[in-house]
Amino acid sequence: MNFKTYIEQLEIKITPLRQSILSILWKNKSPVKAYTILEQLSKTKQNAKPPTVYRVLDFLIGNGIVHKISSIQSYTLCQKPQEHTDSELLMICNRCSQVTEVIEPVMTALIEKLTTENHFVTKEKSIEITGLCSRCYSLK
Ligand SMILES: [Zn+2]
Ligand SMILES: [Zn+2]
Repeated sequence: MNFKTYIEQLEIKITPLRQSILSILWKNKSPVKAYTILEQLSKTKQNAKPPTVYRVLDFLIGNGIVHKISSIQSYTLCQKPQEHTDSELLMICNRCSQVTEVIEPVMTALIEKLTTENHFVTKEKSIEITGLCSRCYSLK
C-alpha cells in the first residue's frame, strides 16, 4: 500500500495539517515522539506549535488512525484502520522499536468482560507488550 491509498481509505476529512502529520508517521518506520513530529513538521510549516500537533494527534487517536504507545511515549500509524473494533495488541520490539499490531475479537470481548466485572471504565483498550521482533530475534 502506498501513502495515497492509505489516506484515501480513512473516513476523516484530510486537512493539509493532518496530511502532513500522517505523512511523517508514514515515513518513519518506527514509532515517533511528539517533538520529532514537530521538528519534521517545522521544515515545511514554520509556524507549527506543540498544541497544534497534539490537537491533530488526539483527533487521529480518537478516530483509531494513530496509536499512542504509552510505554515509549511515541505515536504510530494504525496498521489496520479498517479492521478496528476497539482493542489491539501492540507488540513493541525493544531493539528496533518496530510495532506489530494484532486485532483479535476474542481479546476485545475478554477485555470488555474483565473491565465490566471489575467496574472499571476505560476508553484506552490497547495492550502493549515488549520483546523482540522476529528479525531482531534472529540477529540475537
Ligand atoms: Zn490500530
Ligand atoms: Zn526488532
